[in-house]
Amino acid sequence: MTKMTKHNYLRIIPLGGLSEVGRNMMLLEYQGKILIIDAGFRLPEEDMPGIDYIVPNVSYLKEKQKNILGIIFTHGHYDHIGAVPYLLEKVWQPNFEIFASLLTKGIILKRQEDFSHQPKLDITEVRDGSKVQLGPFRVEFFRQNHNIPDNLGLFIETPVGNILHTSDFKFDSNPVNDLPTNFQKLRNFSKRKVLLIMADSTGAEEEGHSLSEADISKNLDQIFQRATGRIIAATFSSLINRIQQIISLSEKYERKVVVEGYSMKTNVEISKVLGYIKAKKGTIINVKEITNYPDSRITILCTGAQGEGQAVLMRITNREHRFIRLKRGDTVIFSSSVIPGNERTVQIMKDEILRQKTKVFHYKMMDIHAGGHAQREELKELIRIMRPKFFLPIHGQYSMLVSHAELVKEMGLPEKNIAIAENGQIINLNQKRIFIERETVPSNYIMVDGLGIGDVGEIVLRDRQMLAKDGMFVVVAIVDKTTGKVKGSPDIISRGFVYLRESKELLRETRKMVISIVNLAVGSGGAVNWSYIKDEIRNKTGQFLFSKTQRRPMILPVVIEV
Ligand SMILES: [Zn+2]
Repeated sequence: MTKMTKHNYLRIIPLGGLSEVGRNMMLLEYQGKILIIDAGFRLPEEDMPGIDYIVPNVSYLKEKQKNILGIIFTHGHYDHIGAVPYLLEKVWQPNFEIFASLLTKGIILKRQEDFSHQPKLDITEVRDGSKVQLGPFRVEFFRQNHNIPDNLGLFIETPVGNILHTSDFKFDSNPVNDLPTNFQKLRNFSKRKVLLIMADSTGAEEEGHSLSEADISKNLDQIFQRATGRIIAATFSSLINRIQQIISLSEKYERKVVVEGYSMKTNVEISKVLGYIKAKKGTIINVKEITNYPDSRITILCTGAQGEGQAVLMRITNREHRFIRLKRGDTVIFSSSVIPGNERTVQIMKDEILRQKTKVFHYKMMDIHAGGHAQREELKELIRIMRPKFFLPIHGQYSMLVSHAELVKEMGLPEKNIAIAENGQIINLNQKRIFIERETVPSNYIMVDGLGIGDVGEIVLRDRQMLAKDGMFVVVAIVDKTTGKVKGSPDIISRGFVYLRESKELLRETRKMVISIVNLAVGSGGAVNWSYIKDEIRNKTGQFLFSKTQRRPMILPVVIEV
């Protein structure tokens, strides 16, 4: 194809969120001008010790800052906004235009308070019906139901045609603190012709229709009705709807609400100020006032339904919380699904809670996925209404993207009009075709460890995995400068590998081997290559230990000349 035609394609570049749940970030690029949609993080997997969260790689945007037209945030979930501090660190320009709804803006700005060295953000507020022109893109925002209020889908007019981005969504005829889905508005978009639809795939493997928020309320109501003692409800701090439901039910059953956990407190505070959480005066009380009321008048709303080590529920369970201990008669509600990889931790915590003679509810119906994302019937309805020419499944594991694509194919869209893409791929689109380029952009995991952003690379992670799996093995050899021989017997320090006292023979042989490696290398005279000697110790000791134990500890050779 000639350069000219290629120049006229719209390039869609997902930097995260495809083939994974979380870390959503997408670029739209036309003739070098770039629009960013969302910048989220995801939680680490089980085999990533010490990693707090993972953000998208934005190196593609380096040197292109001047061409960035703006950043649009669809909603306030951390998997859509959590990478903001990292993005600012890497590609910030003072002229950046940022757009978000009132609640999303509030959550982003509140979080930025933890990054006070970063530039102050100027975020333009948008709402249902807002329109903004950004270079060649004209973006129209529209309300979408989800499990957080103020969620916005995007209808984007581009030079190649109109694109509809659903954001995370579900069709809800009975939402909490929100209006029902505006189908008329969707039909109006359809009349203006939709070239491409990019739709949330998180629920694409689930049959039927997602639960309405009102149904979820009904489920919770039954638990409240039956509870005689305190209710301890653990959920994600960003599930604003769930938090509202728990507050409303507490009011209905004349309970006071104690809010515990840093992120929970801040989110409740912002949402209350902005009017997204409604609580009567006096409903929310301080944890210290808890003893002023009988147990049957208390709800504790807290973080930690994933078994997170430092979160409130774990501290309560382990009797480490300053004010709250579990007791007979308490009802504990896990009100969000378990993220894959956390099952074991949650199971252990649940067992421990039950040992303390409390009731535990963990309903699948209160599942975050079942609750927040459109399922197959809704996804079909979306396609029926929008009738797009092309389709790109977004947001979800690879199997979810494939299921979503299959569903759309079954509805009559030709296979060549559907692109199943992964992070880092470049999807080209014009009026006639959609295709994925062979070239890719970097999209690997950037790991955030404590306060360090992106300073834990794959090498550090591999080291941690190795340490976690087979432990470490330190060999310290002291070498006499004048003779070139090892002085005495090398020291061996080991953690997490074998119990040293029971492995005397193994250690004796290892020492002998180290001595012979050093003596052989040094004995030939001339300049001594110490890094070669260290490599030799590492490799040979490694092979030897593996042959004896079938384990591969991390070997750290230390050679000291005296
Ligand atoms: Zn979401």
